[in-house]
Amino acid sequence: MSEARAGLSGTARHVTVSAPGKVNLSLRVGPPGADGYHPVATVYLAVSLRETVTAIARTDGRVTVGPCPRQVSLVDAHDVPWDERNLAHRAAVHLRTALGLDEATHGVHLDVAKQVPVAGGMGGGSADAAAALLACSVLWETGHTRSELAELAAPLGADVPFAVLGGAAVGLGTGAELTPVAARTPVHLVLVPADAGLSTPVVFGTLDELRRDGHVPEGPAHPEVNQEVVRALTAADPLALATAMDNDLQTPAVALFPDLGDVLDLGLDEGALRGMVSGSGPTLLFVVPDEHSALSLATAVEERTGVRALPVHGPVAGAHVL
Ligand code: ATP
Repeated sequence: MSEARAGLSGTARHVTVSAPGKVNLSLRVGPPGADGYHPVATVYLAVSLRETVTAIARTDGRVTVGPCPRQVSLVDAHDVPWDERNLAHRAAVHLRTALGLDEATHGVHLDVAKQVPVAGGMGGGSADAAAALLACSVLWETGHTRSELAELAAPLGADVPFAVLGGAAVGLGTGAELTPVAARTPVHLVLVPADAGLSTPVVFGTLDELRRDGHVPEGPAHPEVNQEVVRALTAADPLALATAMDNDLQTPAVALFPDLGDVLDLGLDEGALRGMVSGSGPTLLFVVPDEHSALSLATAVEERTGVRALPVHGPVAGAHVL
């Protein structure tokens, strides 16, 4: 038993919450402002690959976090910091501080069961933060609505409010200013995670360098929302979606991880309507017309590369209690 779990009784009060990973169907990035942040205009889709966080009451006032001992996960949780740097841990401490709750009586241990690839550009850490925020809010009976929690989530990271709300949404600013999009029917995707991660700040920094050196055109100071992607989602048109998708981080991600180019070609060869880097990568997403095509593409990619491929769909619900 981990040191963090020592002393937790099996009968301690607990709350389990599930929260989704995401892909960006469009990600347009402007030049960094004086504060160092890049303004973005993005279209998020919450997908059926989810994180589960159980908040267990602690009587000693501590906040601790660890991998769920019962989980058999395909995700390598070794790359995750299981201490106060963990985004789930930060979310619990943030909630306690923001609401001025008494530390002595608001201790918690967070068990995190991961499914979303680590550092894969799918917001797995953000989903853990969103799940921890809701689980602690219910455990501590704070009475907050989901939209209040999404507002509270903004300082934890640009993708955290979206993981609270789920569905599909346009994100502006750092990505945290959300407007829901009514996507009519499921979008079917195949995700291909890589066996190594890419650091989000390094990918943004590489985009800046490529733009400075003239290899990639400058982006506008205020990037505009890709309305064709929004229309394709509301019209439930996978071909229009595949044609309209874009990601300014794809060129820097492929420059840092050249093998991605080969897997993108292979997915198209096997019948995907379009392939793209998800967020800051290196996870790739392929758009397919329906569930059946998703299953056959995933099988073909696995057979030809030996790499795991995951059929998923979206939009799915945001953080909710199980
Ligand atoms: P971003 O949301 O920045 O695009 P990402 O989706 O590419 O990130 P994450 O899996 O969220 O990737 O993790 C990015 C980094 O955050 C990891 O390399 C890890 O060091 C750190 N981290 C902190 N907490 C967590 C967590 N609960 N799960 C995964 N990574 C975490």
